[in-house]
Amino acid sequence: MAASAAAPRTVIENCAVATVDAGDTEYASGHIVVTGNRIESVGPGKAPGNLENVVRRVDASGHLATPGLVNTHHHFYQWITRGLATDHNLFDWLVALYPTWARIDEQMAYSAAQGSLAMMARGGVTTAMDHHYVFPKGSGDLSGAIIRAASETGVRFTLARGSMDRSEKDGGLPPDFAVETLEGALAATEETIDKHHDASFDAMTQIAVAPCSPFSVSTELLRQGAELARRKGVRLHTHGSETVEEEKFCHELFGMGPTRYFESTGWLGEDVWMAHCVHMNDSDIEAFARTKTGVAHCPSSNARLAAGIARVPDMLRAGVPVGLGVDGTASNESGELHTELRNALLVNRLNPAHREAALTARQALRLGTYGGAQVLGRAAQIGSLEPGKLADLVLWKLDTLAHASIADPVAALVLGAAAPVTLSLVGGEPVVEDGRLLKVDEDAIARSTRSEAQRLARIAARA
Ligand SMILES: [Zn+2]
Repeated sequence: MAASAAAPRTVIENCAVATVDAGDTEYASGHIVVTGNRIESVGPGKAPGNLENVVRRVDASGHLATPGLVNTHHHFYQWITRGLATDHNLFDWLVALYPTWARIDEQMAYSAAQGSLAMMARGGVTTAMDHHYVFPKGSGDLSGAIIRAASETGVRFTLARGSMDRSEKDGGLPPDFAVETLEGALAATEETIDKHHDASFDAMTQIAVAPCSPFSVSTELLRQGAELARRKGVRLHTHGSETVEEEKFCHELFGMGPTRYFESTGWLGEDVWMAHCVHMNDSDIEAFARTKTGVAHCPSSNARLAAGIARVPDMLRAGVPVGLGVDGTASNESGELHTELRNALLVNRLNPAHREAALTARQALRLGTYGGAQVLGRAAQIGSLEPGKLADLVLWKLDTLAHASIADPVAALVLGAAAPVTLSLVGGEPVVEDGRLLKVDEDAIARSTRSEAQRLARIAARA
């Protein structure tokens, strides 16, 4: 829908504004005018006084306005397996959890998605993503259930339709009963694209092709998955270079490291984004920069699983698009993206190599907004506050005890305590007001996720 004079207007004024546009334009006190589902104008001082059809005027004194946060890597189903295997590294943690994950059904996937989405939306996420790769036989329409939960929450959404076809009997990590066949995975992925992918500017739902990882999918699934994605014009997503164990696995099985392996299967390119990318040498980073392959940086999960510190400052210097990811909540129990802004900055400063060229607070905000939009292929539509873009934005309350004495609002948001969300808009539609979700019942979701977590634990214990 294009903005027109007749469309209802929302005027937000008297707040600090961090636009995250190409010049990092900020206003100490500014305004935003939203018309229909688009941003009409952003600027310093008050909004023009002669606007017609203003249906809502928000006095946002004491707030910072930013683009809505964009999450680029998550596994919603893990919401009902949090707090397990808390002291394991990645491979041991996966082996401990696969048998439980392989018992999920449609109702569990729906409830876990509701929990994951509610937590993120309440914390300022306006675009969510889910990399779902566990499809047990007979478990129902999991993709449909997850998409329904996203649409009910009111956030923009990318479902990365995952898959696994390399089980223990083929030298992979997942148990035999947790995987699909090559043909089954490709057919189901294509069906999901045909049924749900929307390529339009305002799209609320997009689908990506997303085989899980080098140690859980066949080379053929990577190759044919890439061909399918390109034939359909959708994006490609997977996990890459997460741990030293994965690197060793790739050298032993394929005679090369993960990045070269991905390149050999068609998995570098401007339509690809990969989670983690922790163990990257200079030539790996150069290959990502040359091909414009994107990265979903997940600092809390990488710390929780002792995976290592991704070289984000080096990636940004080289021109690699980088966004932030919560990752699944079995490896990041908080499930919040705004804390990842802070953790990205802090974790990267702990890397001795980056002491002289650490991430700044503004770079951290950019990773969580525009960088995320870039890696999801939606930078033309979201990720910054600019006229003509979709009105996905957040008002962060910074005038209470936690933040009122912090001089710089962007530093307050990134370095301070988690800031409350007073208003979050997705395509101009309010999704959060005064810290409460407007479209779903947070307390009911808390109850259903607890009972689904207990049901899954009971079924897994019996298996
Ligand atoms: Zn992951």
